[in-house]
Amino acid sequence: MHVGVPREIKVHEYRVGLTPPAVAELTARGHGVTVETGAGGGIDFTDEDYVEAGARIAPGPEAVFAAADMIVKVKEPQLHECAWLRPGQTLFTYLHLAADKPQAEALMASHATCIAYETVTDRAGGLPLLRPMSEVAGRMSVQVGAHYLEKEQGGRGILLGGVPGVAPGRVAILGGGVSGVNAAQMAVGMRADVTIYDISTSRLAEIDEMFEGRVKTAFSSRAAIAAAIARAHVVIGAVLIPGAAAPKLVTRDMLKLMKRGSVLVDIAIDQGGCFETSHATTHADPVYVVDGIIHYCVANMPGAVARTSTFALNNATLPFVLRLADKGAAAAMAADPHLAEGLNVAAGQIRHKAVADALDLAF
Ligand code: NAD
Repeated sequence: MHVGVPREIKVHEYRVGLTPPAVAELTARGHGVTVETGAGGGIDFTDEDYVEAGARIAPGPEAVFAAADMIVKVKEPQLHECAWLRPGQTLFTYLHLAADKPQAEALMASHATCIAYETVTDRAGGLPLLRPMSEVAGRMSVQVGAHYLEKEQGGRGILLGGVPGVAPGRVAILGGGVSGVNAAQMAVGMRADVTIYDISTSRLAEIDEMFEGRVKTAFSSRAAIAAAIARAHVVIGAVLIPGAAAPKLVTRDMLKLMKRGSVLVDIAIDQGGCFETSHATTHADPVYVVDGIIHYCVANMPGAVARTSTFALNNATLPFVLRLADKGAAAAMAADPHLAEGLNVAAGQIRHKAVADALDLAF
């Protein structure tokens, strides 16, 4: 099979669909790979690195789309990119179609087979191709919180780890899933005082066991959250109710309970955010202040650490890319129902029920 990797074109998107080591895995199996010139430039993968891995370099995106049987990307294609897709071609990338009807219609019109990272499942019912980005965002949330606690950044002037004789900062993590636990790992590593709040008692039990007493756990009731935010210096919003908007766990009114110069990091902002005062921000202008509380609400946190994020994403996607390349999309999906869950669009139709329902389109 011939695999194509175009350069990502969304603003401030430096990730790339395949790393040079991932390309080398494909070419070692006899597959051809065409990479757009400069595709990895933002994270210091040069065209020469890709050539060494066995790829050909194309001067622009159209040549990549023309050469490839399968396109591997990071973000959803823009409308003019959808127009370059053709019947019989496979697209493997994040699509997030449920909130993007124009893109869904453009992909249907292409008659290509479009497999979305975010709906591929695993045996445990998880989403293995979303997981690495939650890991990144969770781990990053603590370094972001620590940074904005600094006085120069408008923060309260607190060192999360404290020092001998001075108590550490307090971190409240709302939601103990993938991102919440990864946040806790970093916060514990910095010696902060960490509490995780969740509504799943079985999850709280797992966390309790996992951290062996280094993290406190609490049931996420309204009263517990009010008490938590009054004490905390960093509050991390990491809740998810699959398929629904994030619940507003901290209302505007509750902000007055908080200490001035404390920091809210709303990882769940991509689902609307779990603080009532959250609105999405960008890496170019990541924070704003409401009632003396710093809000960090960047919807694509992993973009800031694009090199780590690209390797993490490739670790998760490569086994699927190899199977798709080895067998072709139809046979690979027939052999793996979890990969088949990734199918969103094929033969001009939406092929994922939840996506069809969200878009009010036929399934
Ligand atoms: P997850 O499903 O692994 O964990 C969510 C947890 O929230 C679960 O343990 C669940 O029990 C808990 N929860 C649900 N309702 C709750 C409540 N009322 N109080 C406390 N806990 C509650 O999800 P995840 O992978 O950690 O993702 C969390 C959010 O982060 C999602 O919205 C995801 O899309 C988002 N995310 C954002 C970025 C970014 O750049 N901002 C990056 C990756 C993921």
